[in-house]
Amino acid sequence: MSVRREVAGAVVDSSHSGERCLWCGAPLVSADQVPRRHRVARCPSCGAGTTVPSPTADELDAAYAKWYRPACGRFPAGGDRLLRSLRGRIARWVDAMSPPGPILDVGSGDGAMLDALHRRGRSAAGLERESNRPDVRSGSLADCEGGWAAIVMWHSLEHLPAPRQALAEAAQRLAPGGTLFVAVPNFSSLQARAFGNRWLHLDLPRHLSHLTVAGLLTALPAEGLVPIEVSYLRGGQVAFGWLHGLVGLLPGHPDLYQSIRRPSAREKEESRGRWATLLAAALLSPVALLAAGLEVAWRRGGTVCVVARRPQ
Ligand SMILES: [Zn+2]
Repeated sequence: MSVRREVAGAVVDSSHSGERCLWCGAPLVSADQVPRRHRVARCPSCGAGTTVPSPTADELDAAYAKWYRPACGRFPAGGDRLLRSLRGRIARWVDAMSPPGPILDVGSGDGAMLDALHRRGRSAAGLERESNRPDVRSGSLADCEGGWAAIVMWHSLEHLPAPRQALAEAAQRLAPGGTLFVAVPNFSSLQARAFGNRWLHLDLPRHLSHLTVAGLLTALPAEGLVPIEVSYLRGGQVAFGWLHGLVGLLPGHPDLYQSIRRPSAREKEESRGRWATLLAAALLSPVALLAAGLEVAWRRGGTVCVVARRPQ
């Protein structure tokens, strides 16, 4: 089954939908007359978004099919190398912020953070839907033992079917003094508001929940954790979120994210107008950088990383 981005999502908030918020469990409101398969319903109680209807197993299999993360990589012209080096910088920061001991990377993807942690002499393991790596397990946090010096959820919490429960499970599996790193798209960001149902970081139907900073900062103490840092710079892809959104405002709503991926890593075959899309992106880059700088300065950045510690 193919899941097409352009019919994939809308942010709506009127009339009762019968579904519940994935974050706080409150009844959701949504406009069912929107003729799209998946959309985001904003919770009237906590402000988080939930993707409704909940994607089926077939829809998720299609959404995570080979094109999503092909073995040859996702981005040409050194893009994959750049992403790995950025992930290596995050790994250095995670290492420096964590007490001695093993680190668990929930949603470890291609293992770039695990590799960087290993290079720093850290014992580290990953969790992923599927992986051939010996240091990555398939399964969920619920199947993991405790005692981790750090647990990293780098843009993975929003992919999980029960994010609030996953946060609780992560908190329970930290060693005393251990550190939790949660990076997510920020549903309360300026770019989320500016681009609505075309916001890059909705990423429907893979993102099942759409969390706010306030929601995270309320949930962490409830799990016995002490928030120690909120960073709008380390969450990543803030400027690209603006650039993708600005390009998408042009006639025909070009999809910049698909245009910069390798042909085998595109959801759709279509590459019509790709060079015009890339040229528009080059011209709009200064505007995107300025907008990203402003929203970070206002602490309304498009992505956020929240760090919390389990008391000794
Ligand atoms: Zn809620």
